[in-house]
Amino acid sequence: ESLINRIAAGEIIHRPASALKELLENSLDARATSIRVTVKDGGMKLLQIQDNGCGIRKADLPILAERFTTSKISSFSDLSRITTYGFRGEALASMSHVAHLSVVTKTNSDTCAWKAYYSDGLLVPPKPGLTPDPKPCAGNDGTIITIEDMFYNTPTRLSSLRSPSEEYARILDVITKYAVHNPKISFLCKKAGSPSPEISTSPVSDVSQGIRLLYGHSTAKELLHVEITSGNANDHIDDPEKWSAEAYCTNANFQGKKTILILFINHRLVESSAIKRAIESVYSGVLPKGAFPFVYLSIEIDPRSVDVNVHPTKREVLFLNEEAIIERISDVIQQNVVGQSQ
Ligand code: ADP
Ligand code: MG
Repeated sequence: ESLINRIAAGEIIHRPASALKELLENSLDARATSIRVTVKDGGMKLLQIQDNGCGIRKADLPILAERFTTSKISSFSDLSRITTYGFRGEALASMSHVAHLSVVTKTNSDTCAWKAYYSDGLLVPPKPGLTPDPKPCAGNDGTIITIEDMFYNTPTRLSSLRSPSEEYARILDVITKYAVHNPKISFLCKKAGSPSPEISTSPVSDVSQGIRLLYGHSTAKELLHVEITSGNANDHIDDPEKWSAEAYCTNANFQGKKTILILFINHRLVESSAIKRAIESVYSGVLPKGAFPFVYLSIEIDPRSVDVNVHPTKREVLFLNEEAIIERISDVIQQNVVGQSQ
């Protein structure tokens, strides 16, 4: 049974960067305003994330790494969040099957922090001879999740990883994109033992400021801001067909070396080859050959219309009326980019 669990977990957590994406989303869900990531060996040896969010109640720690726990955890009184794309209660469970997982957490009503260790979905003792229950310790409000020795028990997954520096580059890429999308939140990422962080952001006023900081002045200088809605102002608020999108995309003067597409759907970083193709085709008519755009696109859509059959951690999304939505977004971007270049 544990082998089956490990294989299933490896389908959800592919590499350090995919684990980090889940951990970042948890910290953001916990309303953190500061998120600090520490990495050793591209996240294979150590991946640690510290936030100043709401923390986890001690009573919830025993079931934290069980599968599908979300609805059982009492801080989740708001059940509507569970129907939101992304909530399945599988991330920490999966990590406990393929890595050493430990948690230090404190809510603002706790007088001390609590530390817990997990393996295969369950609390385990920190050392032989000790009990598995959470131990009191010093700590600030918020949560520190530590993942060590990723895939130590899943050699196939381990061997599919690239070099530590490539895995680290993917981690930095994920953090950079979340930092752009969350301009009010401070993000920090560094290698363990290194004095200077690779990424260190402070709150900025909006997404374009974040792009300037993280992708450079020349990118930000050529940015267009585009807002798109499904159109009908009389749409019922609960209309599942209703959607909106916001984009920051470069104009015809910007000539990047490759397409950079940062795509968020309902505040989750995702990939969509259909959207990528549409964007590339818009720009292929505008940019000279060999030049590529930078596009940040955030779409908000009724969670019920995001395809639940595609696992959220597989990142490649499908959603209702995809073709019509993509066509409208491409049209509006095209009008703006072409209009601006004339
Ligand atoms: P999901 O996010 O789909 O609920 P996860 O396995 O990612 O599943 O997390 C399980 C639960 O653990 C979350 O629903 C949340 O209650 C709690 N949790 C995880 N990380 C944090 C965090 N950084 N701060 C507060 N609570 C957290
Ligand atoms: Mg989660």
